[in-house]
Amino acid sequence: MSRQELPDGEIAVLGLAKSGMAVARLLLADGRAVYASDSVASPATLENAEKLKTIGADATSGSHDLDRIGRASLVVASPGIPPEAPPLKAARGAGVPIVSEIEIALRFLKSSRVIAVTGTNGKTTTTALVGHIMRGLGLDAVDAGNIGTPLADIALRDPQPAWIALEMSSFQLHDTPGLTPAVGVLTNLSPDHLDRYPTATEYYADKALLFANASDGSRWVLNADDARVGVLAADVAGDKYHFSIRGVADAWLDSASGWLMLFGEPLIERSEVHLLGDHNVANALAASLAVSVADTEFRNAEVRGRVRRALGSFNPLAHRLEIVGEYDGVQWINDSKATNVSSTLVAVEGMRRPTILLLGGRHKGEPYTALADAIRKRVKHVIAFGEAGPIVENDLAGTAPLDRFESNFESVIERARELAAPGDAILLSPACSSFDMFKNYEERGARFRQLAAE
Ligand code: ADP
Repeated sequence: MSRQELPDGEIAVLGLAKSGMAVARLLLADGRAVYASDSVASPATLENAEKLKTIGADATSGSHDLDRIGRASLVVASPGIPPEAPPLKAARGAGVPIVSEIEIALRFLKSSRVIAVTGTNGKTTTTALVGHIMRGLGLDAVDAGNIGTPLADIALRDPQPAWIALEMSSFQLHDTPGLTPAVGVLTNLSPDHLDRYPTATEYYADKALLFANASDGSRWVLNADDARVGVLAADVAGDKYHFSIRGVADAWLDSASGWLMLFGEPLIERSEVHLLGDHNVANALAASLAVSVADTEFRNAEVRGRVRRALGSFNPLAHRLEIVGEYDGVQWINDSKATNVSSTLVAVEGMRRPTILLLGGRHKGEPYTALADAIRKRVKHVIAFGEAGPIVENDLAGTAPLDRFESNFESVIERARELAAPGDAILLSPACSSFDMFKNYEERGARFRQLAAE
């Protein structure tokens, strides 16, 4: 299939959540026949199925019609559906191509230019920074993709935006063969999603699909501090630009002067960027670099001034090292979005106060031993909780005093409060997914914030 073309015949949309709904609407608006289904029969999927029916689709919630999916001309799969799920097996078995909602949306976007962001951690923050900086330059720019707004909704917008900051997960990259960004950003790589990939190698291979359509005119923004990123991008065509928080690069943190530097010129002082942790400086450098190489007109002093103002006015995103309050001298920090070991590691390394660390949830397959050194230095007490509790306890034995709770989040918070003295911090940075106890990481973070305030 070329980028613009879609096959004739019915298109099956799998998943009746946000991105499935958006792509079904887009396809229906284009006059396509759509069958949409979801294995879950919740009030939300039922309502969404009804909504699609009123605008011309056939839709079912609670089951997939596997024969019908096998007869479709194309399957559009939600990134949440694992490759071994029956409807995807049925599609593959019948030789039906499977693509993402983003792939479809890209075919409908006429002239918008895309800055695509992927990596293990920092995708959302970097994407939000790119969009914020672009808007700071006075451009019509939106944030889309994994960050929350489906790209198909953007494709339906009239007029379509000039620029799109597009967050791409590995699952989305897997099914988006047409992605050809004006600039592609790779923030970092470490093992993640081992509950879905057999090994980290397969996970990195999906991340490498960012480069699938690389050509001499491509532009890539890469993390110079990450050896895995260097390996993955080694033979990729196009111009490569690097950011670093350790040494000189196209965009880098000059720790001696405390300035973020861009192409040899001072950009902004570290203290003016209101984000905790050096990893967020890396995100700010990546975003500034991506914007400044996106167009030849973005490389002058006036633009640099605007980039600086945008960086200075960017506020931390919720659930990502977000200080939710200071009560009786104790700082409460919500990092519920830290759902893998590497994101918790940067959080712990960035702590400046003695810390009570809340760690646990649903185990995703990575050992917690990588946290041991940082915990020895910064953490006065670990509270392990949820399904991963016993593994956490075992992996971190001897690093810091540790309590373990099975499932009651209220008891976890109560114990943290007991342990904390004025001047300490209580950090929820769980290194696990939330699905054993909560609907999602947002609910976990919101509960933490609420209990902190009580
Ligand atoms: P993603 O979208 O890739 O999950 P987020 O920006 O939502 O990234 O951040 C997720 C978690 O990772 C948060 O806990 C955040 O503090 C941490 N994080 C953000 N940027 C980085 C980075 N560059 N390196 C490591 N961890 C990071």
